[in-house]
Amino acid sequence: MLQENEQAGVRYFTFPDLTAMGVDHVIGTRQGGVSPAPFASLNVSMSVGDAAENVRQNRARLGQIVGVTPEDMVTAWLVHGNDVAPVNGAHRGQRIPYHDALVTNEPEVPLFMTFADCVPIILFDPVHRAVGLIHAGWRGTAAGIVPRTVQVMHQCFQTRPQDLVLAFGPAIGRCHYEVGPEVLQAFQHLVRTPAVFEPADNGKVRLDLVATNQQQAEIVGIQRFLFARLCTACRTDLFYSHRAEQGRTGRFGVLVKLRDA
Ligand SMILES: [Zn+2]
Repeated sequence: MLQENEQAGVRYFTFPDLTAMGVDHVIGTRQGGVSPAPFASLNVSMSVGDAAENVRQNRARLGQIVGVTPEDMVTAWLVHGNDVAPVNGAHRGQRIPYHDALVTNEPEVPLFMTFADCVPIILFDPVHRAVGLIHAGWRGTAAGIVPRTVQVMHQCFQTRPQDLVLAFGPAIGRCHYEVGPEVLQAFQHLVRTPAVFEPADNGKVRLDLVATNQQQAEIVGIQRFLFARLCTACRTDLFYSHRAEQGRTGRFGVLVKLRDA
């Protein structure tokens, strides 16, 4: 389901099913960039203390895989909310403030976000040719960011949930995601879409972010899912993990765009 690739030393993943449907995308790793420790080496976040020139170079390396430059990318100032921004070619090179989801139906407008444990989610509507990129941490998940994005795609592009393909990128797995009472509390209002928790050995609980988002997606009618099934905290050789690396680390990038037909 997930394919591992390498280009000029840059290691990255793709979903061949999405590529075949005309969705260009790159799920970056931490391998093949220019940043020093603790950001080694393919860090694409400007907000972690890494040098801007390194980040630019790393973004250029990722973009090159699908023929785009950092100046083409539409990025978002991620705030763990559930706001969704519809964007188009006029937004190239912009960082959209306070949004954790970007959607577009314009070909060759690359959506780009940075991750280290939170769930990267790609949405694709093959009928109306529209795409979305979501950053879903526990706060965004508790705020229903997937159903919210589906709603905005419906308003903007007439997207029907039953047509959507939803792909889950690498994220912290339930194996590593012990959570506290504030997280449990945040999900209490979700009567129709309970979160997927499991008890841990020490009396605490673990949250399954991917399964919780899948459940929310199924309730609004999404039927087609693709899974990376890679835990960022298990695989710090491949990915950055905010949790496993105690916050001192970089971010890997996820880029998605509709290929011009
Ligand atoms: Zn794990």
